Amino acid sequence: MSAYVFPPPAQPSVAVAGSDARFPVHRIYCIGLNYVDHVREFGRDPERAPPVFFMKPADAVTDNGAAVPYPPATHNFHYEIELVVALARGAREVAAQDAPGLVFGYAVGNDLTRRDLQSAAKERGEPWDTSKGFDCSAPVAAIRPVSAGHITRGRIWLSVNGTLRQESDVSRMIWGVPQIIAALSRLYELRAGDLIFTGTPSGIGAVQPGDVLEGGVEGLEVLRNTIAPPARA
Ligand code: MN
Repeated sequence: MSAYVFPPPAQPSVAVAGSDARFPVHRIYCIGLNYVDHVREFGRDPERAPPVFFMKPADAVTDNGAAVPYPPATHNFHYEIELVVALARGAREVAAQDAPGLVFGYAVGNDLTRRDLQSAAKERGEPWDTSKGFDCSAPVAAIRPVSAGHITRGRIWLSVNGTLRQESDVSRMIWGVPQIIAALSRLYELRAGDLIFTGTPSGIGAVQPGDVLEGGVEGLEVLRNTIAPPARA
């Protein structure tokens, strides 16, 4: 066993409801354009704009209740409330009908986005990494284990300073959770510890330092984060 040249970074992790043990995060996969009304708010045709995959680094996870610093290099910082799926085991090329067997549990997450950088990347046909995969870009509330049941329907919502901004039902996803897992497993070897952000409904918008974001999915812990002033060098 070789020594490391410096201590390895801490293992990113997410709280588990009803447990002191934490869920160790391996990768964070995300799907975009997965609610018809959200595809339309981008001025696109849901029939012609299939869902798209992208990733965030594992250490972008941020705890429920934590202050999120307003990130650098943006003037249009957006929330996106999403159902998050946590995997208990991995697979390659899994069938949709077998995908629920991989799930550890479900949580509420916020796919924070530097929308101005994303718009510029879309215009130029460039990757989304800088718009999606920045520090603290993935707040996630406690994961509810599947022993409490799978999430296939239920209200999803987000408020800013108490005003409702997003509201839909997770049953209105274009690709459901089993289809998303099956599709990802044809692109990557899925592993225990993977998180999957499943897309946001319409109502996206910008936030400023001092704003309080609250969001939920029926049956799961509510996610609350305050936007803090930019971190200083
Ligand atoms: Mn999203």
